[in-house]
Amino acid sequence: MVKVLRPKDEGKSAAVAAPTSKGKGEEGSKAEATGGRAGGKRPPTPKRSGGAVDQRAEALRTLSQFYLGEMDLKLRMRQMTITTGKEPPEWMAALEILKDQIINTEHPDLKLRMYQAMADLLAKVGQKEDLFTIQQIIARYNLKSFKDMGFERVEIECAKDACPVCQRMAGKRFRIEEAMETMPIPCHDCTTDRDAVTGYCRCRYFAIF
Ligand SMILES: [Zn+2]
Ligand SMILES: [Zn+2]
Repeated sequence: MVKVLRPKDEGKSAAVAAPTSKGKGEEGSKAEATGGRAGGKRPPTPKRSGGAVDQRAEALRTLSQFYLGEMDLKLRMRQMTITTGKEPPEWMAALEILKDQIINTEHPDLKLRMYQAMADLLAKVGQKEDLFTIQQIIARYNLKSFKDMGFERVEIECAKDACPVCQRMAGKRFRIEEAMETMPIPCHDCTTDRDAVTGYCRCRYFAIF
């Protein structure tokens, strides 16, 4: 007999804890947008040497979360070098690999985890603008998941150690359509330092009943 291994969250929705029926009160009935991180073990961060990030190590660490490795990176670097005429930085090749993986997977939770891994890598290598773009994609993705599940409104929650800009967003509520249009998070003027960027907003949406 053959056992088929499946991704363990298969069938579950992307970014939400199962809505509970208990408590129609304000706090009791929130569904959480995880940003794709739930349950995922994070490999240890490589040590920095002299303050500089080892971009290759970071790229490989990112890929390893999805069972991709050195050979994938090498192949992609070679392809990109042929196409563009110069060798790309490792992180850029890693991002391209993940983009392809995202296109090729049907699994919403995995897609989200890959986007989050892209965001983390961009923070590590100090690519603030691209980071912001990926965070917007993640926010939109979460909003769409909530909408698909029949929610109409969301509330913003910020991290405990969030910057003052993000803290001002905490508790604000939006209709999902409105949030999709105005994109209140990621906060554009966030001042939180993380890795090599200033402005790593960690505000998240909760769906509310
Ligand atoms: Zn924020
Ligand atoms: Zn902030």
